[in-house]
Amino acid sequence: HQATKPPPSPSPLRTAKFFQSNMRILVTGGAGFIGSHLVDRLMENEKNEVVVADNYFTGSKDNLKKWIGHPRFELIRHDVTEPLLVEVDQIYHLACPASPIFYKHNPVKTIKTNVIGTLNMLGLAKRVGARILLTSTSEVYGDPLEHPQTESYWGNVNPIGVRSCYDEGKRVAETLMFDYHRQHGIEIRIARIFNTYGPRMNIDDGRVVSNFIAQALRDEPLTVQAPGTQTRSFCFVSDMVDGLIRLMEGENTGPINIGNPGEFTMLELAETVKELVNPDVEIKTVDNTPDDPRQRKPDISKAKELLGWEPKIKLRDGLPLMEEDFRLRLGVNKKI
Ligand code: NAD
Ligand code: UDP
Ligand code: UDP
Repeated sequence: HQATKPPPSPSPLRTAKFFQSNMRILVTGGAGFIGSHLVDRLMENEKNEVVVADNYFTGSKDNLKKWIGHPRFELIRHDVTEPLLVEVDQIYHLACPASPIFYKHNPVKTIKTNVIGTLNMLGLAKRVGARILLTSTSEVYGDPLEHPQTESYWGNVNPIGVRSCYDEGKRVAETLMFDYHRQHGIEIRIARIFNTYGPRMNIDDGRVVSNFIAQALRDEPLTVQAPGTQTRSFCFVSDMVDGLIRLMEGENTGPINIGNPGEFTMLELAETVKELVNPDVEIKTVDNTPDDPRQRKPDISKAKELLGWEPKIKLRDGLPLMEEDFRLRLGVNKKI
């Protein structure tokens, strides 16, 4: 017998919306790469008030500098593994390091962020009657035995490897989301995000697109990790933000894959960056890290059908936009 409780009553803030139509939105991890682009988009709507909670582990206030001091914006230094008391209508829960070098740096903390952090945000959602969206990941499919990956695939994840703090952490976070939904009637949304790139990525955060562009601009060899035939599918950040907002505003809990199905080997990616950014740069093969998934490509039929969403920006069009941002930040002019 499953004990299903009725949904919690709307928060006073939501009821107050009949009188005052502002929507107060919490973005955890809003000082990070995807989070800060999401904040930009949410702030464009004058009816939104945005509260960001971030501990600045991999994010930075710099990403939000244009909003600091804005009357509809608030920035809180907060670690989501601690309880948070705010009154909001929606929660975009992104807080979690996303780059392997950062999430492996302190794996126990990564698990706490995913598990205790998500539990706290669900407790908050329950108390105030807010809708909550979790940014889960394609890593829940592990080293997938199904290709492309559909949402119904349960995955092939090593529970005890060096990536497990992230992969299994996100899997538990998804479980918590569904248990709060079933047990407490919380309105949930789960996005399974595939590799995303774009301006504002941490220059030295170790992810492949940021590495290759920074290396090309610094005239350093592009480091393709062996064998180089492993694939990823890269989504430009503006498409990602659009998908996340559609998911939050729509009626489907998910999980829904959000990503760009254009699939490339890491060697192809290196060749493309070389061609577009610096034709003189060398490409070299270096050692890989354990448990690197061999292939990854989203099946986005569900996102197309249920959200009316599909990515618009091809890799070849997105890379130059990122190059421009990296040139500015690294102070490297384009050769004429
Ligand atoms: P990011 O590292 O740039 O941003 C994460 C943000 O969360 C940072 O600002 C960081 O300081 C903050 N943070 C980390 N731990 C925290 C904690 N305990 N308390 C409060 N804040 C904390 O990463 P991103 O690429 O913007 O990713 C955002 C979300 O999307 C993450 O949940 C990530 O797992 C997910 N995701 C990203 C990708 C991708 O390719 N970028 C792919 C799959 C999933
Ligand atoms: N929580 C929070 N903010 C709130 C409400 C709850 O951070 O506004 C945290 C709370 O500290 C707890 C977690 O969310 O650790 C889960 O809360 P819930 O009420 O579901 O569980 P309980 O407190 O009964 O364990
Ligand atoms: N990779 C690479 N060179 C780098 C960094 C990463 O070839 O300098 C490869 C890595 O082995 C993996 C892919 O690029 O196969 C994507 O790695 P990333 O860390 O960007 O994201 P992941 O999808 O593994 O989380």
